[in-house]
Parts: sequence; structure tokens; C-alpha cells
Amino acid sequence: MSKKNILLTPGPTPVPEDILRAMAEPIFHHRTPRYRKIFSSVSERLKKVFLTKNPVYVLTGSGTSAMEASTVNFHSAGDETLVVENGKFSERFTQLAKAYSLKPTVIKVAYGEAVRPEQIAEALKKNPAIKSVCLELCETSTAVLQDIKAIGAVVAKTEAVLIVDAISGLGADRLETDAWGADIVVSASQKAIMLPPGLAFISVSEKARKKMEKSNLPKYYLDLKLYEKAAKDADTPFTPALTLVVGLEKVLDRIESEGIENIFKRCAELGTFTRRGLESMGLKLFSKAPSSTVSAASLPDGIDGEKLVQVMRDEKGVALAGGQGEMKGRVVRIAHMGAITKKDLEEGLRVLAETLHEMNRHSEAAGRRIS
Ligand SMILES: *Cc1c(COP(=O)(O)O)cnc(C)c1O
Repeated sequence: MSKKNILLTPGPTPVPEDILRAMAEPIFHHRTPRYRKIFSSVSERLKKVFLTKNPVYVLTGSGTSAMEASTVNFHSAGDETLVVENGKFSERFTQLAKAYSLKPTVIKVAYGEAVRPEQIAEALKKNPAIKSVCLELCETSTAVLQDIKAIGAVVAKTEAVLIVDAISGLGADRLETDAWGADIVVSASQKAIMLPPGLAFISVSEKARKKMEKSNLPKYYLDLKLYEKAAKDADTPFTPALTLVVGLEKVLDRIESEGIENIFKRCAELGTFTRRGLESMGLKLFSKAPSSTVSAASLPDGIDGEKLVQVMRDEKGVALAGGQGEMKGRVVRIAHMGAITKKDLEEGLRVLAETLHEMNRHSEAAGRRIS
């Protein structure tokens, strides 16, 4: 059997051929008119993906660098922050807050569920000192989509800023940064933006910028004031991952030619298709608030999820993701964002069904031997 090579993990995601080729061109220097032209163009055009008029800064780092930038630039020592924890990535906001001596208040939400906007309203009412609310658009570890629009309306009435981790969701799940009042949105290159890992993005509203002026937390590489200043000359304070920025220009061509609305629609349809496929195998969906970015299903007892993912990847050439943290070995996750096609998903689902069937047969046979 010839081995396939299908990547369905929720980051990194497949990078289209033409974009890979564009990034294989000879390297050039970044403090040149050639680079500045590309950089100023991508910085402007990224706004259309974020659906914002606010500046979007491009950092060289993984998505977490932008999350850390959201912590260090918009808070001061001892600030209170409200974190919604409903999976592994949201827990990172609490860890960041602790690392910088902020005071996090945590709303714990069961894995697989989204926070109710009223929970946020209550927490903000109870503690008016809260300076920020942090949560995910799509919590990639549980495939849960949160209602940023409703939450934005709650937070906009307060002094707090809304910090949204859209690292996986941006460009797959709808996010109207300005219209919904998402003050700070972070994202990264290797998920729905279909580039290799290495770039992170952060948008900053006017309300957030005021906090940035006053912030006294320690920072250097991630000091957004430096990025703001450099941006005036279409520049970055430090050497950019310019190869990826060249790729980003091509990605934006692709996104613009399809149209962001059509992309939201396509990812939503692929999500529905994926979830129907999972259910038709008899699997139970894990997320009660489905996302257009990634879907997750619980595995039946007796199926070792780690083994399943390993067999599919190493023997059948289909890479999907297992569970993280508490969900390790118990769920599978399939991405349907970026350049992932329906054909990839059909094949991935077929191989998943086949592998589950084989593992079931083995465990039944083992069961008979024991009894
Ligand atoms: C992937 C992901 C991250 C982590 O990003 P890195 O690029 O690995 O630093 C954080 N949050 C969400 C929602 C993600 O999907």
C-alpha cells in the first residue's frame, strides 16, 4: 500500500505548493525598499482578515509570543485579569498572568463547553477592578467556539479590554474584531493562515493602546511600542522572518481572491461534513459549540487514542491530532481550516473508520482470549 501524506492536524496545516515555492526564492535583505513594500502591504492587508481598522503587528515567534505580548503590553504589575479556562490553550493565559505577577480570576468551564456571556458579566460586576478578559475564539484542544460577539458587548461596557486568542480560529471561524469589540486579537501563521510556523500577529484597539501607554511590566523583544514606532517606516524592530512574510503576501492574494466571507462559509461546510463523518462512525462529538476550525470526537472505551493517532500517521500517512492534557488518549481532533480540502477530509475520515474497525477487531479478539 502506498503511503499517503495527509495533514489534518490543527496546526501546522498544509501549505499550498505555490506558496512553498514563493518561499524558496533566494533570500534578500530586509532593510530595503523591496522588503518594505511587501511588509507595508501585508500589514495593511492583514487588517482585512482581522476585520479591523486597527494596526496589526507582525512578530517573529510562535503564536504564544503574541499571547505573551498581550499579557506584557496591556497590564501593569498586580493587575487583575479574568481568564476563561475551557481547555489547554486558555489555561496558558492563566500561566502567563502568573508568570508576570498579575492576579488571575478564573472562570472554569467544562471541557467541551463554551462560557456563557452572563458568567463574564457577573464576574466583571463582582470585581470592577478587572482590567482584562482573556479567552479563545476557538479553543483548539476541545474544538469549542466561543461567542465573542456577545462577550464583546459585555466587556465593551466596562473599563476592561477583551483579549481574544484567535491563533487557530482567525481565517476560519468568523471574528469581527472591530464590530464585536475585540480589543486585542492574537493569531499565528501555521493554522488557518496556511503558512509554516514562525509568525505571530496582534491587533490593538484604541482602548488597548491607552493601556499600552501605561503598562509597566518588564518587556523587551515583545514591547509593542517598538513595533508601533518601526511600523511608521514599514519596518520591524528586529529581523523579521522575511521568508514567511514573502509567503504571507501570497497567502493574502489567495485569501482575497476567495473572499473572507466565502472562506468562513467553506470552513463551516467542511466542519459540518467532518462532524457528520465522525458521527456516522458512531463517535460522539466532543464539543457542544462546534467550530469551523477543528472538530473533535470522543473515542469509545477500549480504544487507545494515542495508538490510533500513531498508527494512522506512521502506517497510513494520515496525521490527525489526539487529545491534550486531561483528554489525552480519549479524543481525536481533525482540522478543516486553511488549505485542507474536502478530498483530504474524505480520505482522512475513511482511514479513521478503517483504523477504528481494525483496533476494535483486535480488542474483541483479545477480549475473547481472556475470557
Ligand atoms: C496553536 C495554538 C496556540 C499555541 O500556539 P503556538 O504557535 O504553538 O505558540 C495557542 N492558542 C490556540 C488557540 C492555538 O490553537
